[in-house]
Amino acid sequence: MFENFEKFAETLSNTGKNGIDFGKLSYKAATEQKTLNDLYNRIGRKFVEENKDVAVDGELGEIKAQAVAKAQEIEALKAQIRMLRGVVVCENCGAEVDAENDYCGKCGTKLVKPEPPVEETEDEVADDGESIEVEVVVEDDHTNEGAAD
Ligand SMILES: [Zn+2]
Repeated sequence: MFENFEKFAETLSNTGKNGIDFGKLSYKAATEQKTLNDLYNRIGRKFVEENKDVAVDGELGEIKAQAVAKAQEIEALKAQIRMLRGVVVCENCGAEVDAENDYCGKCGTKLVKPEPPVEETEDEVADDGESIEVEVVVEDDHTNEGAAD
């Protein structure tokens, strides 16, 4: 325990017995870990993009299917948020424009409006039992993907 405390103290002082800057090394390791995580992230994205319409067998296929489904869920949530905020996204420049407008205020492209939502109160939805529940799950494991201990 005392030994651990010494190590802890060394970490705090950032310099070990041999004059090694552990703080600097730890920072470098963390930075390289982040770069590696970014690379894994890019591999995953590229794989999903390139295989979006391709059937993939095995575990990779399952993960890809989950990623595609998750991306669709996120898009649906974003669309819901935009609808509630009364904005549409310009297909040309990506700007968020008031849904009242017919043309993008930024680039002038004609706006494509989403189909008007079917207005239902929560009570009606609950009564007819046809509600689609959007469950927002905050997962905490994504930050550790690919991280080594
Ligand atoms: Zn635009």
